[in-house]
Amino acid sequence: MRSLWSDSDAEATVARYYGASIGRDLALRVYTSRLLGGDPRLVLHGGGNVSVKTVLPDLMGDPVEVLCVKGSGWDMGDIEPAGLPAVRLAPLRRLRWRDALSDEDMVRLQRANLIDPGAPTPSVETLLHAFLPHKFVDHTHATAVLSLADQPDAAERVADLYGKRVGIVPYIMPGFLLAKKAAEIYEADPAVEGLVLLKHGVFSFGDSAREAYERMIAIVSAAEERLSRGRRRVFAAAKLPAEVAGAAEVAPVLRGVSALADPAAPGLYKRFVLDFRGGPEVRNFVDGADLQRYGLAGVATPDHTIRTKNFPLIVPAPEPGRLDAFAATARVAVERFIAEYHAYFARHNAGSADPTLASPANPHPFPPPLAGEGDPGARPNNPPPQAGEGRVGVGAGGAGRGKRELDPAPRVILVPGLGLFGLGRSARDAAVAADLAESWVATVTGAEAIGTFESLSPAELFEMEYWSLEQAKLGSAAEKPLAGQVALITGGAGTIGLATARALKNAGAEIALIDRDGAGVEGAAAKLGGLGLAADVTDTAALRAAFDRVAVRFGGLDIVVSNAGAAWQGRIGEIDDKTLRDSFELNFFAHQSVARNAVRIMLAQGTGGCLLFNVSKQALNPGVDFGPYGVPKAATLALMRQYALDYGAIGIRANAVNADRIRGGLLTPEMIAARARARGVGETEYMGGNLLRREVTAGDVAQAFVELALARTTTGGIATVDGGNIAAAPR
Ligand SMILES: [Zn+2]
Repeated sequence: MRSLWSDSDAEATVARYYGASIGRDLALRVYTSRLLGGDPRLVLHGGGNVSVKTVLPDLMGDPVEVLCVKGSGWDMGDIEPAGLPAVRLAPLRRLRWRDALSDEDMVRLQRANLIDPGAPTPSVETLLHAFLPHKFVDHTHATAVLSLADQPDAAERVADLYGKRVGIVPYIMPGFLLAKKAAEIYEADPAVEGLVLLKHGVFSFGDSAREAYERMIAIVSAAEERLSRGRRRVFAAAKLPAEVAGAAEVAPVLRGVSALADPAAPGLYKRFVLDFRGGPEVRNFVDGADLQRYGLAGVATPDHTIRTKNFPLIVPAPEPGRLDAFAATARVAVERFIAEYHAYFARHNAGSADPTLASPANPHPFPPPLAGEGDPGARPNNPPPQAGEGRVGVGAGGAGRGKRELDPAPRVILVPGLGLFGLGRSARDAAVAADLAESWVATVTGAEAIGTFESLSPAELFEMEYWSLEQAKLGSAAEKPLAGQVALITGGAGTIGLATARALKNAGAEIALIDRDGAGVEGAAAKLGGLGLAADVTDTAALRAAFDRVAVRFGGLDIVVSNAGAAWQGRIGEIDDKTLRDSFELNFFAHQSVARNAVRIMLAQGTGGCLLFNVSKQALNPGVDFGPYGVPKAATLALMRQYALDYGAIGIRANAVNADRIRGGLLTPEMIAARARARGVGETEYMGGNLLRREVTAGDVAQAFVELALARTTTGGIATVDGGNIAAAPR
């Protein structure tokens, strides 16, 4: 690992931020924090923390000695000065001489000494930074250092490699006691350049930003160099089938078996989004003969537990053509994983005074949010977690009042022959789990190259997973109604398609758009934070490939809006066959291809699904000379009913939206003008030519699709969105 320090970049950062409330020290702190945070081998997703001791004006303008330390909810990679709240240093230092300090008191004292009471909550490792004398202190969870520190004989290995350059701190959970211990070890030999925290991570420090940063790089580089002298072939390969099914087929199966059924509402599931990783390092890891040992040995650093759980789920290699057998085995594996998680929770939560808490006999996969749980991730200036989630078992506040069990589903799944999947309630959370899992794979691989990977005990992992200050990272914001669901919209770059995608996104779903207009669909998807795929829905091979890409990207599919269409005109008895057949290709057969592909994935998931068709009022109330358009649309209405009939018993719902006179898309400004003229009315009157005398918008149509996606017991139905048209009413 090379130092990325650049004098000119450092000075540019100082020039950018320097001002009354941001001195040179804080600006340089921002600069090297970003250097560290930009490398996933050092820190990931809010992990690690940094500080600088400096003098800044308080709110009255008086200079005061402060510790600027990373605040909750900030990522080192893109931190700003606001992400490094200033805390009065003197009171923090005085805490050193206490014997005990509960987590809640620690957080309260840290917040009480903020210069700006609206600043984010300082890191849980603030006191460790405060008790060290150095101006700059850097902390990472570097994978290479963890490969040394996650060993049964880690202390000897670290001492052997670094000699007197670093102090060695035994594992203690973050907080007051760890801060005191680290300070004691530093003081025993103040010449050290850093501290290795066994089974946790590494600190470096120095008098300048550059010194602390470059000491971190040197410590990590030494570990990397040591690992490079380890065994080249770390994992003996397992005997795997000659061929293994692809991620597009496997992901929906795994997504289905890991969804948690809501016991109170049949047909409703707590679903997860999947994020697939299948690079060479991951493959090497999951294909190892000894995977059951090292794969189930625990996390690389306790910080990961909250996102990945302590252990992944391991399933067998999926053989092509035998996915039913794979699904059955995977289902049993998930059930066992969940039973073990309940048992782990019950075992370590023992002593709880609250009889209403979950137990193996009374699991609740839909736990209410934790009492007083903060959400610093979403709102950096949120107040800290309140008392009431005291530590259980070890350390201060040991008289735990009991915890609420988190959902028991796995967050990482290892698939020999294929790779790994991260799971989360959103694509972002799934990516975080997958990123952390990849970093864990790197640490375990390094550890096994030189020795044996060893993690913390289940009791220590439980203490961390159910630590109130750690739980706060997950946030408590109410989830949106379609959270965890994946929606695909065809004709996604058009007016109605895009409005529908936006509405589904706002309701919490992940979005995939398919459109013939490649540039348009990619731009639209990028704006929505979704996946954009260029494909012509009448091209069955391209459509299948697009559905496969959705399955690989998100793990599967729950809602499909089959919306792509175009209007052909002509008097039905006088048009040529080609016109009618072309229209049938797009306005009927493409809907069938879309629905068939969706059902293929939904059947693999086994958690139902929602098919939505845009049929237009032409299906019920044909217009003169619109036969080539209305006839296939009427067939599509029948298609919707057939899907409702054939797949209702397995929870797949099918419904249609029947909209009329929507500006944009098929109805161009020229058409509006021509039709209004033909009827002898103004354009506004033409567009509002319905019972409500009100123009119907694409947003209204989108809203109808969202409502049907949420209507758990509606299938085979038509939602009419046309402002009222008695002639189009079914009879
Ligand atoms: Zn840490």
